[in-house]
Amino acid sequence: MNLLNFVAQFPDEASCKAKWKEYRDKQGVVCPKCGHKEHYWKSDKECYECKRCKYRQSLRSNTVMHGSQLPFRYWFVAIHLLTSTKKSFSASELQRQLGHSTYNPIWAMLHKLRQAMGRRDSEYSLKEVIEIDEGFFSTEIDQDEKNKPLKRGRGSQKKSKVLVMAESIPVKGETTKHGKPRKVGHIKMFLIDDLQSSTIDSKVSENINADSVIDSDNSTSYTNFKTLVKEHRPKVIPKKEVGKMLPWVHIAISNAKRMLLDVFHDIKPEYLQSYLNEFCYKFNRRYFGERRFDRLMVAAVSYKNEFRYNIK
Ligand SMILES: [Zn+2]
Repeated sequence: MNLLNFVAQFPDEASCKAKWKEYRDKQGVVCPKCGHKEHYWKSDKECYECKRCKYRQSLRSNTVMHGSQLPFRYWFVAIHLLTSTKKSFSASELQRQLGHSTYNPIWAMLHKLRQAMGRRDSEYSLKEVIEIDEGFFSTEIDQDEKNKPLKRGRGSQKKSKVLVMAESIPVKGETTKHGKPRKVGHIKMFLIDDLQSSTIDSKVSENINADSVIDSDNSTSYTNFKTLVKEHRPKVIPKKEVGKMLPWVHIAISNAKRMLLDVFHDIKPEYLQSYLNEFCYKFNRRYFGERRFDRLMVAAVSYKNEFRYNIK
């Protein structure tokens, strides 16, 4: 959907509300009080009424728009842009484009949509052959950390640790048409507090099919992988060989870093996961084309946001 089609299809608040309701009805409205799935639509009040307990919920309740005061059309514009732009855009850019007076609600709207993206991706497990490595992303230093001396290298307070997983399937013959020995499938990225094997193991068992094979370096953080999946193939990987031996995690890490650097500045560590969600979600749907808007709409009506924030 290009911008002109978008404007033609969603010219006003009413058209957006009607489309939103269509998506909610298709996904199924659930009563938050009794769990019943049949509702009356009260068109005068624009709300659903549970056929069993009579509890009423608005069109926005229990979706990504839960608690939002912004017009439906703002959300549609955001969903359109998030699914039609290749890289990303900042909340201040969107605020300018919408001509909205305050920054915070626009910023929160984008984070809520990124949360819905992350939840959607968390429903799928990676399978077959998976590369795993860690990436270190620059983030803002917390106010109370600023006074402490900086540690170097892996433990540096300026770097947030991200566990990166990429399905990396060997191709028949020698290389893909891009000259790679493996084909990439889905990817996942998780902000982690530390590099303890227990931290990493739980991410692996939650997100990787037990029937898979994992390729990684021989880090001590990874010693338990052999008990979590069918096969673990740890290798000593010299620094300059990383791109060759774990090609897709490293391409994903450098592309994600580039996107973050280009678009966002001074990311607070607590919001890094949100930006990673967007990066992975888009990457995992890179061949979806026209269906991308539809898929994010489904995710948006299906999840109640739990995003909380404190902006000083
Ligand atoms: Zn009910």
